[in-house]
Amino acid sequence: MSNIKIKSKHKHTNPIVIDNVSFAPGESGTISINVGRLPSDTKINLTAHVFRSKNPGPVILLLGGVHGDEINGVEIIRRILDKDTLQSIQRGTIIAIPLLNVFGFINFSRDVPDGKDVNRSFPGSMSGSLASRVARTLTKKILPFADVALDFHTGGASRYNYPQVRYAPSSPIAGKLAKAFAPPFILHKPLIPKSFRKTCETMGIPAIVYEAGESIRLCGVSIEKGIGGIMRVLKSLQMIEKETQEEQEVLLFKKSQWLRAPYSGMFIWSKQSGAKVFRGEQLGVIKDPFGTKSVEVFAKLDGYIVGHNNASVVNQGDALFHIGIEEEKIK
Ligand SMILES: [Zn+2]
Repeated sequence: MSNIKIKSKHKHTNPIVIDNVSFAPGESGTISINVGRLPSDTKINLTAHVFRSKNPGPVILLLGGVHGDEINGVEIIRRILDKDTLQSIQRGTIIAIPLLNVFGFINFSRDVPDGKDVNRSFPGSMSGSLASRVARTLTKKILPFADVALDFHTGGASRYNYPQVRYAPSSPIAGKLAKAFAPPFILHKPLIPKSFRKTCETMGIPAIVYEAGESIRLCGVSIEKGIGGIMRVLKSLQMIEKETQEEQEVLLFKKSQWLRAPYSGMFIWSKQSGAKVFRGEQLGVIKDPFGTKSVEVFAKLDGYIVGHNNASVVNQGDALFHIGIEEEKIK
């Protein structure tokens, strides 16, 4: 594993001050940042954990729960906090926020209560919608310190993502971080306007997104691979010394496309995420609920299934299989 060199924009000897709480080099602690209130007048706070080494180095942001129901990422960061690793980093600073969108989390929802997506509301505004205010809190209070960001997600709705890191090829350092993370799959994904990653790029912060599993459900493999990835990134930034387990194989996909339902009905897949598939191969079947019709779903391209839909009932045109193509073996 090769080392990644990042020059920190934060002068290490200066304290990191978040919401009037100051962290000098060598200091660690937890802070609550207010992001709003419920109609019941209950205050909603997000929690940030700050770990600072005495030695200078980059400031890494670990971010979970931008989408409130994507709990694998919340659990990955929560478990990393349980380890001693972050308390004993060799250099630099880690800011860990397990759950950004508390409003979505308590509603079992991706969004905030008005239906807006925090990840389409960056950089945000304190006079904007609730999603925009949540985004702004992060942009204003945390991002000015960050040199690198790792953002943790799952597939939306019932879609399952095979453990994968996504990054924009326009950022070579993000590419290095993705390779250091070494998930089974890496995907090139351009930046979406008003997303967290787009704001990071504007602020000069290389950012990668880890996508694994599906919303509302904890997935053991996704969590383990996410934790392993964070450890490998920290090692490549020389923030920890521990030897970490290497991934056996990493495939990079330069493109991907969705295979959509040719018919409506009950969907039964026979190939799932992670599988290599060939053009013309049957991946599943859609049956009407009356026992009269059965429509097979075939792969249109050679590739790998990087995500699939676990919905049992689908409409014509629904996304069924996300196929990664133009693969390159990294490891
Ligand atoms: Zn998400």
